[in-house]
Amino acid sequence: MDNDSRIGLFGGTFDPVHFGHLRPAVEIAEQYQLSTLFLMPNHRPGHRGPTGASTDHRIDMLAMAIKDAPQLALDTREAERDEPTYTINTLREIHAEQPTATLVFFLGMDSFSAFETWHEWEGILELANLVVLDRPEATHSVFSKQLMQRQRAKNGGEIVNGRTGVIQSCQITQLAISATDVRRRIASDLSVRFLLPDDVSEYIGANNLYRSKKSL
Ligand code: ATP
Repeated sequence: MDNDSRIGLFGGTFDPVHFGHLRPAVEIAEQYQLSTLFLMPNHRPGHRGPTGASTDHRIDMLAMAIKDAPQLALDTREAERDEPTYTINTLREIHAEQPTATLVFFLGMDSFSAFETWHEWEGILELANLVVLDRPEATHSVFSKQLMQRQRAKNGGEIVNGRTGVIQSCQITQLAISATDVRRRIASDLSVRFLLPDDVSEYIGANNLYRSKKSL
């Protein structure tokens, strides 16, 4: 199997990136034999005000966090757009760039359980495969459970190159860390040591990020 034709994507706000993103990212890159897993920060509209960090800060923190992880890379196409974009549009763009590649989109169980709210979710399954990461305290919704069963009946459970619409779940080391909790601790002057990389934590301090309770 030619693994170069398999593209792994892991989207999110990463506000800020933490070990609950990074440890699973390394594990899935290994489990799925991805030459590269692209972390894809999404766009955050400026008009939302001082909610969390700016796009530039989120990208800087991600770049810092993955600098010594050769399997991980950044794809900033969504973050750098002026307008918010939908996952389906990004997948269409990547598919147009690399029509023969197999796209594997990774998402946490909390995100997958709300997958029916994603714009053109049926279209996403026509372009990509999904791998759902276990996350502490996140469970299936009725919809997500049925969708997984439906796709399994339709496609089987194996992601082979050239395929789309397969949904798998993936067991990873579960870490009960969330960006919301990290932001809350910072705003309350509590330590975030060992929840995210030290240099990211130093960057947050140096740039005075997440100090305001408004950013929660
Ligand atoms: P917030 O608390 O701000 O909602 P978050 O910690 O959930 O943020 P996101 O940037 O929204 O982080 O998450 C990006 C992706 O990573 C999503 O698919 C999410 O489900 C997944 N994810 C985030 N944290 C974890 C975790 N601890 N374990 C497994 N998956 C996670």
